Amino acid sequence: MTELKAVGPQPSAAIRRIKEYHPPLGDRSGLRLDFNENTFACSPRVLEALGRISRGDLTRYPEREPVEARVAAHLGLQPQQVLLTNGVDEAIHVLCQTYLDADTEILIPVPTYTMYEVYASATPARVVTVPAEPGFRFPLDALLEAINPATRLIAIANPNSPTGQVASREELERLIAAAPHAAVLIDEAYYHFHGQTLLDLVVRVPNMIVTRTFSKAHGLAGLRLGVIAASEEQMQWLRRAISPYSVNSVALTCLTAALEDEDYVRWYAGEVLASRPLLEIALARLGVPYWRSQANFVLVDIGPKHRDFVAAMRTKGVLVRDRSSDPGCDGCVRITLGTREQTEEGIAALEKSLNEIHWAARATGAAR
Ligand code: PMP
Repeated sequence: MTELKAVGPQPSAAIRRIKEYHPPLGDRSGLRLDFNENTFACSPRVLEALGRISRGDLTRYPEREPVEARVAAHLGLQPQQVLLTNGVDEAIHVLCQTYLDADTEILIPVPTYTMYEVYASATPARVVTVPAEPGFRFPLDALLEAINPATRLIAIANPNSPTGQVASREELERLIAAAPHAAVLIDEAYYHFHGQTLLDLVVRVPNMIVTRTFSKAHGLAGLRLGVIAASEEQMQWLRRAISPYSVNSVALTCLTAALEDEDYVRWYAGEVLASRPLLEIALARLGVPYWRSQANFVLVDIGPKHRDFVAAMRTKGVLVRDRSSDPGCDGCVRITLGTREQTEEGIAALEKSLNEIHWAARATGAAR
């Protein structure tokens, strides 16, 4: 890591340690198959709700409790078990602040969502990473072995990003039972494309924490809305760590409108689910190895020409995400699934790009 020369006050040791996270945003005009967002739009009801916001409304500090009660009802929980956050990113930050001290550890199977490590390294805790099993399978045995009395937080994305792999309910239940002294985060950011949840355990299992985001299926990434579900006892601690007004009133109004339009979310998730086999069939036909995904993206193995591939896709107006520097992901590129029409456009660009870079199939394209 490069040591920055500090002019003026020294930042804390934690801030000197942390890596700055730079999502490659820049010019994102074109078809956005790079960030696993909703690639289309949010519900039209959200825009109507925006139009109803008055100037006076904006003069007040936001009140999240009434909306938390609605989200709780939506999730089948009590209001005390639900905390709205400024995206799941803030939820991860809050969890790290709440649980991680000096002489504690966070356990993270990798590759996975980068922000677990980013926020954890801003605390004095040790970050312990556990590599996935072959095929990016969930490393249950290695995680069970890594648990020790210092383990305070375990962060699992299920489905995982960038791999699209899942852990089964039984595996997660074993992990949660093996670490009663640690908070276990099950990050269900991609729930709507997988359909399986552990949310029901929140009421019975004291060390279990589930997060959901409204950035994916709901198409509200720009508003920054996430939710933590946890037992009332754990929530008391989490509420101490969160800023009282981190979810702004415009986002709260829009969230209420989005929750009223479940049909829309079902429609969008249906498009993504129909897109998944379209992309998989095309990859198999073109001989591109990929990992079968339970999320709204597919990780493909392009190999040494991954950078040329991403650049060639860009010239065709399609953005995809190079994940080569993630642990175990050398040569891999992640492609987000959109509506069927968008996915067809992505597939056409993919085929042209592979030709253009003279990509040669190294194996019969197959799910790994
Ligand atoms: N968790 C996972 C697994 C993700 O992939 C992402 C976003 N890419 C997030 C959380 C962040 O969600 P949000 O936009 O709500 O901060």
